[in-house]
Amino acid sequence: VSKRTQILATTSSGVATDGLEKVVINLDHGDPTMYEDFWKQKGEETTVVTSSWQHISYFSDVKNVCWFLEPGLVSAITGLHKAVGNAVTEGRHIVVGTGSSQLYQAALYALSPPDGSGPMNVVSAAPFYSSYPLMTDYLKSGLHKWAGDAYEFNKEEPYIELVTSPNNPDGFTRQHVVKGDKGILIHDLAYYWPQYTPILSPADYDIMLFTVSKSTGHAGSRIGWAIVKDREIAKKMTTFIEINTIGVSKESQIRAAKILQAVSKSCNHANQEAQTNFFDYSYKLMAERWKRIREAVNKTMLFSLPSFPLETCSFSGRTFGQLPAFAWLKCEGEVDDCESFLRRHNVLTRGGKHFGASMKYVRASMLSREREFKLFTERLPAIKS
Ligand code: PMP
Repeated sequence: VSKRTQILATTSSGVATDGLEKVVINLDHGDPTMYEDFWKQKGEETTVVTSSWQHISYFSDVKNVCWFLEPGLVSAITGLHKAVGNAVTEGRHIVVGTGSSQLYQAALYALSPPDGSGPMNVVSAAPFYSSYPLMTDYLKSGLHKWAGDAYEFNKEEPYIELVTSPNNPDGFTRQHVVKGDKGILIHDLAYYWPQYTPILSPADYDIMLFTVSKSTGHAGSRIGWAIVKDREIAKKMTTFIEINTIGVSKESQIRAAKILQAVSKSCNHANQEAQTNFFDYSYKLMAERWKRIREAVNKTMLFSLPSFPLETCSFSGRTFGQLPAFAWLKCEGEVDDCESFLRRHNVLTRGGKHFGASMKYVRASMLSREREFKLFTERLPAIKS
C-alpha cells in the first residue's frame, strides 16, 4: 500500500526534494502531459463553454454515415490533415470514436465476417502495442482472436494485420509484413505527426486510425477518428459504436474540434498574430528530450536506445530521425529482466514481454511532465549494475 501511495503522490502532486532516488518515476503509461504548458498559454482561444440546453440529442448529422459525428469535428479533422499533409481525406468517410481504442474494436468488428468458420486471426509485427492482444481477446469474441507476431503468422487463413507506424513501442516506420494475400490491413497512425516523425507523404490506406491523445496531447477527451475508404466498412464501424455506446460524447467532440482548429491555425504561416506553431513547439520539445535521454544513456554501459535514419519532413522541411513518444530501452549485459531491474531503482516502465518482445527491453514514456523526465535522465546514469 505504501509503495502505491508513493507512486500516486509522485505522479499527481509532483516530486519531493529530498531522497530523490527514492522517488518513484512512473513512465509505464504514455500519458501525454508534456504539452500541458503549450495549452496553458492558449487560454480563451481553446476554451469551450457549453450550456445545458446544447448537445442534448443523440444525433449530430443524420445524413452522414457516422450519424453521431459533429460536423465541426469533420472540418477540423480534414483541415488539420490538409495543413500537415499526413493523410488523404478527400472522398473518405470519417468515423469518430471514444479514443482510437474504440475504433480499433469497431474495425475488428467490421472486418471479421459474421459467418466465418472460426474467429478471424489478428496479428501485428512484434514488438507490437501491448493493448492489441488485450483489446482483441478480452471479450473472448467468436469473431476474432489474437494470433500474435505477424512475422510468425503462416497459416493459410484470413487475417487482419495491424500496422502501427511509427510503431509503439519502438518508434520505427512500418509496412505490413505478412506475405499472404488473405489479409486485411488496419493502419494505426496515432504517431504519424511531425513532432514524432518526418512526414513523407499523405497516408492513403483503407483504414487509418488517429487520435487527439498523441497528436495534441488531449488523451482525457477520449477522441479518435478513423479515415475509411469503403462506405460499408465505415457503416459497420458506426454500427459497432452504436451498439457499444450509442455514439460519442458531443462535448468531447466539440472540444477536440476547437483544439484541432487552433492547431491548424497555428500551422498557418500567414497567421497575423504570429502564434507559436504547435508542431514546431512539440517537435523542439521532443528533439530536446531525445537529446537529453541519449546523453543520459551514453553515460552508462548498461542501456542502449535504437537509432533512426534521417529523412526530410514535407511539413517542416527539417531533416531528422524519429523522435518517438516512447524510449525502447535495452538493458545491455547481464540483466535479463529490464523492467524488474529498473523497478528496483524506482523507475516504472513496461517490459518487453507485453509487446511480444524480449524482457531485455522496456518501454518508457517520453511524454511525461518535465519534472519526471528530468528525474529519469538524472536517475539513468546513476544506476549501477
Ligand atoms: N494506438 C496506439 C499505437 C497507441 O499508442 C495508443 C495510445 N497509447 C492508442 C492507439 C490508443 O489511443 P486512444 O487514447 O485514442 O484510445
